[in-house]
Amino acid sequence: MSMPSAAGGEPVTDAGGSVASGPVLVINAGSSSLKYQLVQADSGQSRATGLIERIGLDDGLARHTVEGREHVLERDIPDHAAAFEVLAAQFAEHGPDLQSAAPVAIGHRVVHGGAKFASTVLIDDEVLTTLRRLVPLAPLHNPGNIAGIEVALETFPDLPQVAVFDTAFHQTMPPAAYTYAVPLSWRQTFNIRAYGFHGTSHAYVSRRVADLLERPLEETNTVVLHLGNGASACAVEGGRSVDTSMGLSPLGGLVMGTRPGDLDPGLPAHLSRVAGMTLPEFDHALNKESGLKALAGDSDFRQVMERREAGDEAAGLAFDVVVHRLVRHLGALALVLGRLDAIAFTAGIGENSPTLRAAVLERAGLLGVELDAEANDAAQGETRISTAASLVAAFVVPTNEEWEIALEASRLLT
Ligand code: AMP
Repeated sequence: MSMPSAAGGEPVTDAGGSVASGPVLVINAGSSSLKYQLVQADSGQSRATGLIERIGLDDGLARHTVEGREHVLERDIPDHAAAFEVLAAQFAEHGPDLQSAAPVAIGHRVVHGGAKFASTVLIDDEVLTTLRRLVPLAPLHNPGNIAGIEVALETFPDLPQVAVFDTAFHQTMPPAAYTYAVPLSWRQTFNIRAYGFHGTSHAYVSRRVADLLERPLEETNTVVLHLGNGASACAVEGGRSVDTSMGLSPLGGLVMGTRPGDLDPGLPAHLSRVAGMTLPEFDHALNKESGLKALAGDSDFRQVMERREAGDEAAGLAFDVVVHRLVRHLGALALVLGRLDAIAFTAGIGENSPTLRAAVLERAGLLGVELDAEANDAAQGETRISTAASLVAAFVVPTNEEWEIALEASRLLT
């Protein structure tokens, strides 16, 4: 499908940079799903969202939402090329018409950019080759991202396409934070180090926190707790990531839906000795069978909380483990920052669970945080949940990774 090239028009300024007028089509392609959103980069207004699921499986499912109305389409979607045909068909049938909406760019979310990509880049053949070389660093995520890019380049050949990396925001971490104490040859030959993830979310939320505090971003120190199916904590000093809980892969740090977070590095060798476990088995268990799922039989935090409230012991322990790990990382990152202005909760759990937020903040009194229990219970959208007397502010800030990707794409082009 042919699209108009980057639209003209006067750039407007928002969120600290020059931003082109016109929307950006944001694409988040996974191995079996494709999420998209047509976002107005200057205002964040969402013109349409969509989710195409079960790519490559039987019974593909596509949802397209415009002006609050969801349009569902069921049909086989054998590969990413078919998924993009469905995307184009959904826009054509239900709007907005892509020709007249005239997106200025396509912004692709890419999970791992290694040490090669410290910022958003315009995608060309060289970038694609590098992305393919980075696949071993994120074998579950990058192949789907790349498949999405390849098809998008064919489908929309006239639009500039950019890659926005989950890792890029963390490339400001100092060597002391990202270096693992492992043999030099591993570090030199295989780029073994901490990279960090959820960068677009941490960048967006930390900027919103500075706005909410009415302080310059450069003078604001925040710990962002991105708590969704995947979870990570990030120390943001003056708008720059200086440390984060995830490392080489998205497995480390906090307890997640199906991932364990921090473990003793001796575990794989031990399980190989006592259970004859192979590395692929271990890898699968750590990616798909650990975290809340292992502790409480369900990867969904809301379900775990319902069971906990009904007196389920395993769910109670799961909650306690999640909170303990969070408190430990929060304390560590606060010390890394040296001075803390705010703590921000975001993503599915962070935005929606006052119980979890209260459990963490009640144990963070040492940092100078005083919870405003009423504000916490009633929080909707961006909300301050610490008292006026609290030395460190606490906020709920709904993340908006799509807008951040649109902003990144748009800024790169202006
Ligand atoms: P995300 O990956 O950001 O979409 O977050 C997904 C997680 O958020 C899942 O574990 C959900 O159970 C959790 N979640 C969503 N809504 C709620 C809620 N109202 N209370 C507790 N957890 C929630």
